[in-house]
Amino acid sequence: MDTSAQKILVVGAGLSGVVIARELAEQGHQITVIDKRDHVAGNAYDYVNEFGIRVHHYGPHLFHTSNDKVVAWLSRFTEWLPYQHKVKALLSDGRHVTLPVNKETSDIVGKENVLDIFFKPYTKKMWGIELEDLDPTISQRVPIRDDLNELYFPNDTFQALPKEGYTQMVKNILAHDNIHVQLGVAYNKAMNVEYDRVFNSMPIDEYFEFKHGPLPYRSIKFHTSTVPIPKVLPTATVNFTHHEPFTRVTEWKILPGHGNNPAFTTLTIEEPCDYKDNDFERYYPVKDGGGENLARYRLYAAEPSSNVTFIGRCGLYAYLDMHQAISSALSIACQ
Ligand code: UDP
Repeated sequence: MDTSAQKILVVGAGLSGVVIARELAEQGHQITVIDKRDHVAGNAYDYVNEFGIRVHHYGPHLFHTSNDKVVAWLSRFTEWLPYQHKVKALLSDGRHVTLPVNKETSDIVGKENVLDIFFKPYTKKMWGIELEDLDPTISQRVPIRDDLNELYFPNDTFQALPKEGYTQMVKNILAHDNIHVQLGVAYNKAMNVEYDRVFNSMPIDEYFEFKHGPLPYRSIKFHTSTVPIPKVLPTATVNFTHHEPFTRVTEWKILPGHGNNPAFTTLTIEEPCDYKDNDFERYYPVKDGGGENLARYRLYAAEPSSNVTFIGRCGLYAYLDMHQAISSALSIACQ
């Protein structure tokens, strides 16, 4: 037996955890991956429903990046279907206009109305705070353009969806003799002593028993239904500009490889909320404009944590896109 091989625990079978598991397994270590849920792939989990339509259980995951290293790494585990995401916003008069706001959209609504129509109500319902109280980098994810570009991710060189879905891609990543996956298993700190190292994607504030106070998170309630109509939306996702508590709707069949049922279509509407109102499911760390939450996170990150390394959106309290989660996990795995 290789005496340098370590016993490693990975908590959470989301993208961050499985990338670290695979990298360390290939280095010869023995990896146990646990997840309290009954499926792998974390919030990227998808499945095919009884209508033959692929649904992303935790909302739309559109892979986009300019990071060639991440693409090359993932491409060992999946083939791809090229897809450039487009989004429309639904105006109060029923018209659909391109989002991110481009020249055509601002000509329609008037440049001076752009923030009031597209950003203020959406941000309030998404984050529970006013646009001016949110760190500006969050809404800058959707920059206002003065050209006619219609893409949601106009600058990314690689935009595609895994051909057999995210869940299958993650299963392929985990398919290694040195990786053992246990689903429906909750983590507790007593497990630390059984392993040389622990990579933990649980919320860092919860790990330290909220000693510096809780970190705020937003969650989303997903309302999914199937209707006997061939197609409903003009684009895969439509964002709402109204003041109702719903942010957007996604029609799964419009994404390539997500089914071609001729009679039925499945849609998911998103309703953001505080994580305490959704079974403590934390999806989005809240980046406030004053940086208070980040300062609180840093108190947790500075705590001694022996053989535990925190990973992922909840462990690092960072709004990571998929490609960023993978890039971060690859760096952590070679430390
Ligand atoms: N945003 C907005 N209106 C929109 C879309 C986005 O105000 O129609 C702001 C909002 O604050 C949102 C942020 O931009 O949280 C980032 O949007 P993105 O679509 O990137 O969010 P994600 O897909 O990660 O939920």
